[in-house]
Parts: sequence; structure tokens; C-alpha cells
Amino acid sequence: MQLKREKFEINLNPIQRGGILTKEARDALIEFADGYSICDFCPGRLDLILKPNIKKFVHEELPEFLGCDLARTTNGAREAIFVVMNSLKTEKNKSKIVLADGNAHYSSYIAAERAGLDIDIVESSGYPEYKIDVEKFEEKIDLNKPILILLTYPDGNYGNFPDVKKLSKICKNKGVPLLLNCAYSIGRLEIKLNQLGVDFLIGSGHKSMAASGPIGILGFNKEWEKIILRKSKYFPNKEVEMLGCSSRGPSIITLIASFPVVKERIKHWDEEVEKARYFSREMEKLGLKQLGEKPHNHDLMFFEAKPIYEISKKHKKRGYFLYHELKKRGIGGIKPGLTKNFKVSTYQLTKKEIDRVVKAFEDIIKKN
Ligand SMILES: *Cc1c(COP(=O)(O)O)cnc(C)c1O
Repeated sequence: MQLKREKFEINLNPIQRGGILTKEARDALIEFADGYSICDFCPGRLDLILKPNIKKFVHEELPEFLGCDLARTTNGAREAIFVVMNSLKTEKNKSKIVLADGNAHYSSYIAAERAGLDIDIVESSGYPEYKIDVEKFEEKIDLNKPILILLTYPDGNYGNFPDVKKLSKICKNKGVPLLLNCAYSIGRLEIKLNQLGVDFLIGSGHKSMAASGPIGILGFNKEWEKIILRKSKYFPNKEVEMLGCSSRGPSIITLIASFPVVKERIKHWDEEVEKARYFSREMEKLGLKQLGEKPHNHDLMFFEAKPIYEISKKHKKRGYFLYHELKKRGIGGIKPGLTKNFKVSTYQLTKKEIDRVVKAFEDIIKKN
């Protein structure tokens, strides 16, 4: 069977834009494509391998990048969230409630479920901005005494950034640890644990760090070492939450290979925000409406597209017309069938490419 993939000149899919491999990662991927290829010189644990130098990456480069003492790679952001939840659960006399923002990703709920915990929510402001007012956490913390606070930064629907510094102060006051889910931010912009005052940082290599994945990253300070990195009673060298070894293979190799480029690209985040705002303004001129924070602070944008939806009601291809019209123009990444609402990202697109997308929407609306 031949496995082929539909490729577009311009891909707007938010989950894919930050995971496009660098040239370095694409080469490394082939070099390390065979199973267990990173294990040639393993001294007994993945994060201690010197050839290739995973040890330096996990023990020096990642903690420095994240502004914290310790880091590990996991098999995804959700797995890293699960690691934290499952570890905190081992502490005695704690509640079973995780208090999360109303824009949290579905995988945060499932991670809690898998860890045997319940989720309580601080609702967003709803349509059209869906903002999270972090002050609302205070009351709920008093009410529920949660074992963990989870904040999504930004969320994967609207690309909103809640006030994490304000929340970290509240959490410190109340003595509750704070997990910051940065699946859409670590690798795109600078995120430092100590500056933000949070306890746990979570990232996604395939979402935002130009890695094939699946791979997640977890950063924290030494105070949590005993709980998160507790060792096996059967194999004293192995860490229980990593199941001994976590992301073994092309996932970590591509992450390491792209890392120098990623460290460089986060310095240009301002330009990405500018491009996103420009795109949002241009789309609104065409009668679409960007939901979420405005002016927007992230390349992930949610649009309500009434003019497109109106066309779809009369078009013979119905909701699929948009997909086909964009495809004709070399543009992909909006789910086939969607017209009323959709998410796009302009991350790492050039101004010229963004103009081409705007022009495509303009033509499609005029023509139909
Ligand atoms: C994509 C995403 C995740 C899941 O990331 P994985 O690395 O695939 O587990 C979690 N949270 C948010 C906010 C996301 O956007």
C-alpha cells in the first residue's frame, strides 16, 4: 500500500504550523528512523544517553530554556499533564479535584480522569471573547481545596492568554500548585517557569517545537523532584512516571535537531503576533468575525464566518465548497465541511502568503 498525504502550498491548520520540521530535523529523522536507534549507547536510562547527547539536552538545555531546575520529555503534552496529576495524587490527605480554566483542552480532562481525579472549572466570559478571569479561581480554591490548578496558556480554541502572573500569586497565597499548559506557546514564544511563578510547565514538541513527535516536555523546580521523579522500588535507577524511559526514537531526535532553530525563532514572536493581527483585520473587512481576545496575541485564530456560511447554504457542494475553493488556490488546513466557524493559524507564513490567503477568501466570497 502506498501511503500518501494531501499537501498544500499553504497549510492553515493550527495544530500543524508549529510542528513543521526544520531541515535539520528531517535529516535526523531518516538517520534515526529505525526502532530503538537512539539506544546504541544507553547507560540504562533514556535521559542519560550521551551519544546522541540526550543527557545534555534534557539536563542542561531544556531546563535553561524553560527557566527551571529540571525537565523531562514525555510522549506528549497530555502525558506530561498526566504525570503531574498522577504524581500529586500520591501525596496523602489531598483532595481529588483539579481546578482548571473553562478553555482547557479535552486531554486535560482525560488526563485527570485517568489519574482518578475530578475536574472543576472556572468558566470563561463566553461569546465573543471567551476570556478567563483568573480572580475567579480564588473563591473556587477556598471552596474545593483542589490538589492542582491548571491554566491553559493559550487555549487551543481561541488562542487567549489569561493573566498567569496574577494567578500564580493567588496560588502561592493559597498553597496550591499551578500547572501551565503551554502546548501552543513553548517553542513559539519565550516561556520561563521562574518568571511566571508557576510550578509545572508543559509543552508539546509536535505542536510548537518543530518535532515529529509525539513528544511532550515537562519543566519544574527541585522542590517537586521527589514526587515527580520518584524511583522504582524494583529498578532503583528508573523513574516510575517515565515508565523507565519515555520518548525513545525519532520523536526526541527531531526535537533535539530543531532546538537551535526553535531557540532562535522565539525571538521573533512579536512579528508573528503582528501578522496574526493583520490577518484578523483583513478577514474582518470581508465580514468574518474573529472571536477570542482582541487585539489578538497569538497566531491561532477562531473565526465566525457568516458570509461563507450563507454561501454554503445555497452551494451545490454545501459545506464542502470552502474546502474545494481553497484547495484550487493551493490552500488547505480548514477541515472539509466547515464554514460557519473555523480555526486557522498564520504561524511562520510570510506576509505574501497571508495576502494570498486573504485574497482567496475575498475571491470566494465575491464569486459565489
Ligand atoms: C494540542 C494540545 C494539547 C495536546 O498536546 P499533545 O502533545 O498532542 O498531547 C494539549 N493542550 C492544548 C492546549 C493543546 O492545544
